[in-house]
This record gives sequence, structure tokens and C-alpha cells, in this order.
Amino acid sequence: MAVEKLVIVGSGPAGLTAAIYAARANLHPLCIEGYNAGGLIPGGQLMFTTEVENYPGFPQGIQGPELMKALRDQAERFGTRFIRDDVSAVDFSRRPFTVQTPDTTVQAHAVIVATGARANWLDLENEQRLAKSGGGVSACAVCDGALPVFRNQEVAVVGGGDSAIEEGSYLTKFAKKVLLIHRRDQLRASKAMQERFFRLVKEGKMEAVWDSVVVDVLGDKTITGLRLKNVKTGAARDLACKGLFLAIGHTPNTELFKSVLAMDDKGYLVLTKAGSTYASVEGVFAAGDVADHVYRQAVTAAGTGCMSALDAERWLAAQGIE
Ligand code: NAP
Repeated sequence: MAVEKLVIVGSGPAGLTAAIYAARANLHPLCIEGYNAGGLIPGGQLMFTTEVENYPGFPQGIQGPELMKALRDQAERFGTRFIRDDVSAVDFSRRPFTVQTPDTTVQAHAVIVATGARANWLDLENEQRLAKSGGGVSACAVCDGALPVFRNQEVAVVGGGDSAIEEGSYLTKFAKKVLLIHRRDQLRASKAMQERFFRLVKEGKMEAVWDSVVVDVLGDKTITGLRLKNVKTGAARDLACKGLFLAIGHTPNTELFKSVLAMDDKGYLVLTKAGSTYASVEGVFAAGDVADHVYRQAVTAAGTGCMSALDAERWLAAQGIE
């Protein structure tokens, strides 16, 4: 079996930027771009986004899928090869490393892990049932919010961070009102996002439900409401709504690397050399949200993707592989 110089696992901004740099460095990278692991698709989280307004170089903004297509085309133009599948197993215990998909086994001198992170759920039985059956429960407002079932209805968003405000304000384009359910009485969201939220509240488009957690999702075929518990008083009440959108953070896609690569208590990969993308196994590098629970931006993912390709290129050269 031919040994690849560099395999990149993942195809979000981190994986594709790594691919662009590695391809231009003549490493002829193979990118395993994923299929549907972790609920993601090739291109990663930005494929579920509409307007990206903060990626440098696009003064008028750009649609998430359009940006990802441009990154992929750029990586392909310089010779990146792609496999559209999920990685099912890795063996990093000896070199060359082995990376397996259900259909292919690949050997590689170096690997960049850029598998990203996925949305969290409350893990309530009815939440999961209705999410799977298309009953009005979703973890992605920009994917599902425009569906006719939500139009001119009251819908709820759970969370108090930037995502909750962003998703909530997106939903105000379609819904009659968006109820923001937060477990505290202060938002975690940035100042700019808080301003956006309170402006929408003033306009009657959003409303805060403070100090509350969702303990059950009501409805048989489609959601009819939520059972809430006030965390301060313990009181329960039912709130009518026709949609539920979760925006309660993310979990890194690192299940594959358990007992293989060092990770923190939340599952994010640990980098072992300050200011680098070195993961805990020599020859393996980590880029993007899979190793970043702080910044989690497309541009920071792209930045660490670039770093990982440069790190891999230098490491490979030191092994005599160019
Ligand atoms: P986040 O900042 O971690 O916020 C998650 C929110 O969900 C918090 O308010 C948290 O409550 C709440 N939460 C977590 N688990 C919960 C549970 N089990 N039940 C109820 N509530 C729960 O996540 P995020 O909003 O997805 O943002 C992630 C990162 O992306 C941040 O760095 C953010 O700045 C960035 N981001 C930026 C933009 C933008 O600038 N346009 C947009 C989206 C995201 P507590 O506050 O009580 O912990």
C-alpha cells in the first residue's frame, strides 16, 4: 500500500486551509472530508450557516456554503485529493499511521485532525424523538428556521450565548415571536449580541424567559410546547410554542481519538507544544474547533489549519519526507 505523506481528517475551514497550504507545499494531501459523522456534512458547521459577516475579505458577507465551496475548490486546484467518507478507526501507535473509513484503509506519514465540533442537545426523550421525526425540534435555526411550520408561530431558543442570540434573531425573520429560554438571568453572549437581543425585545420580536430550564418537550407528532422549571423557585409551568431550537454549545468530534490522543475533560484535543498544532502523538497535528473551545471562529480555524500544514511540512522534512 502506498503511504500518503499527509492525510487531513475533516473539511471545515481548518481542514481545507491545511489542504491548501499542504498542497501548495507539494505534499499532495489526501483529505478525508467526512460524510455525516457527528451530524456534520463535508464543509462542516459553516454549511449550516447563512450569512458569514466576519470572515475577512468579504465586506458584503458571504454565504457559509459558498465560502466552503471556494475553500474546497482552492484546495483541489493545488492538487488535494478528497475521499467523501467518515473515518471509522485510526491506529497512531506506529508509523506509518493507519486511517480507516468503512471502504478504505489509508497509511500516512503524518495526519492533521480537523474534525471540528457538533451541537449539543438537552438529551430529553421527546426532544430527540421530535428532532428525528421532523417534529419542530432542531439544533440549527439557520438550517430549519425558514420551514413553513415555524412561520408566524411562537418558537423557543434555549441558550444564552452568541449562538442563541444569532439563531434567535435569524428566527425573527419568520416567527411571530422568539422566546429565549436561559438558565440564568444574565446572558453569556458578547456585548454586541446582547445589544441586538435587547433591541429585538424592544421591537417585540424576542422575549426572555430567565432562570428557566426545559424539563420536557410537549407534543406527539409535532411540538406543542415546553415544560419549564424555574431554577430559583422550583416552579414548573408549560409554555406553548411551535418550535424548539437548541443553542447550548458544542462537543468536539474526538470520539475516534479516545485513548489515542490526549484530550481535556471536555474532549478537546490537547496541544503539546505551545504555539503549535502538535497533538500528543508525534506526527499528528490538530487544527480548528477540535482543539479550541475558546475562539471557535471560522477564521481562527483557518489560521490553525494553516499552522498545522506548516507544522506537518516541517516535521515531515525533518523525517526526510518531502
Ligand atoms: P456558549 O458561549 O458556550 O453558550 C452556551 C449557552 O448555552 C450558555 O448560555 C449556557 O448557559 C447555555 N447552556 C449550556 N448547556 C446548557 C444546558 N444543558 N441547558 C441549558 N442551557 C445550557 O456557546 P455558543 O453560543 O454556541 O458560542 C460558542 C462560541 O462561538 C463563543 O465563543 C461565541 O462567541 C462564538 N460565536 C460567535 C458568534 C458571532 O460572533 N457571530 C456567533 C455564534 C457563536 P450558561 O451561560 O449558564 O453557561
